[in-house]
Amino acid sequence: ENLLQNQVALVTGAGSGIGRAAALRLAQNGGKIALIDLHKKNVEEVKNQIEEMGSEALVLEANVAHPKEVETCYKRTIDQWGRLDVVFANAGINGKVAPIEDLEPKEWDLTISNNLTSTFLTVKYAIPYLKKEGGSIIITSSINGNRIYKNIGMSAYSTSKIGQMGFGKMAALELAKYGIRVNIICPGAIETSINQNTWKENEQLKKVEIPIEYPEGNQPLKHKPGKAEQVADLVLFLASTQSNHITGSEIYIDGAESLL
Ligand code: NAD
Repeated sequence: ENLLQNQVALVTGAGSGIGRAAALRLAQNGGKIALIDLHKKNVEEVKNQIEEMGSEALVLEANVAHPKEVETCYKRTIDQWGRLDVVFANAGINGKVAPIEDLEPKEWDLTISNNLTSTFLTVKYAIPYLKKEGGSIIITSSINGNRIYKNIGMSAYSTSKIGQMGFGKMAALELAKYGIRVNIICPGAIETSINQNTWKENEQLKKVEIPIEYPEGNQPLKHKPGKAEQVADLVLFLASTQSNHITGSEIYIDGAESLL
C-alpha cells in the first residue's frame, strides 16, 4: 500500500542514519522527498536510491540552524512540487561531550542551535504551506533528557532534546486548528554515525574519570542497539493518515532501554 501517494515530505538530516532511513521509507511508500543536509554528497546518494525506486527527490544543501536557509528549502520544495504534507525535523548533533565546568558557552550554543533552534525553524517555516490542507510534523527528540540522565557530559544535548519535547507539544496544540499534527519520537541507542561519535568522545571522558554507562547491554530487547530502519517505520506511521488521531504525543522507540 502506498501510504504517501502524491504527497511531499521534507526530511532534515537526510544524509545519514535515521533521516536517511526515513527518507527512503517515505519514498518507498510513494512520497516525493526534499532531502536536507549539511553535506550534499550524502544526500545525493539518497536521491539516487529514491529515483531507483521510481519516486522523486530534491537535494537541498542547508544548515537548518539558519533561518534563511530553512526558508529557502521550503520555497524550493514548493517550486518543485507545489505542495507540502510531511515534515521530519530530525537533524541533530551530539555536540561537545564535556563536564559542565569545562563546556564552553560557544559549544553549548552550537548544540542548542543545531538541535533545538533548528527544530523551531523547521516547524515555523513549514506552517504557511502545511496550513492549507493540514499535514504531519515529526520531531526527533531522544530518551536522553526525557527519561534517562545517565550520559554525564551531555548536558547541552539533553537540554536540547527535552526542549524539543516542550516545543513539539506547544506546536501540536497551536497547530491543531489547521489539521497539522505534531508528534515527538524518542529513540534509544540506534546504530548510526552519531553514536559512533558519542562513544568515541565518551572514551575521552573515561580518561578524566567520569563514569559513563554505555548503551550497549542496556536494552531488555535482544536486537540492540536499534536500527535506523526500525525508527523509519515509526516515522512512516506518524506521517501517514494511519495515525490521524495522534498528535502531541511522545513515542519512545528504545526497546525499553529507558525503563531500566
Ligand atoms: P547521524 O549523524 O547519522 O545523522 C544526522 C544528520 O543530520 C547528519 O547527516 C548531519 O549532517 C545532519 N545535520 C546535523 N546538523 C545539521 C544542520 N544544522 N543542518 C543540516 N543537517 C544537519 O545521526 P542520527 O543518529 O541519524 O541522528 C538523527 C537524530 O536522531 C538526531 O536528532 C539525534 O539527536 C536523534 N537521536 C539519535 C539517537 C541514536 O542513538 N542514533 C538516539 C536518540 C536520538
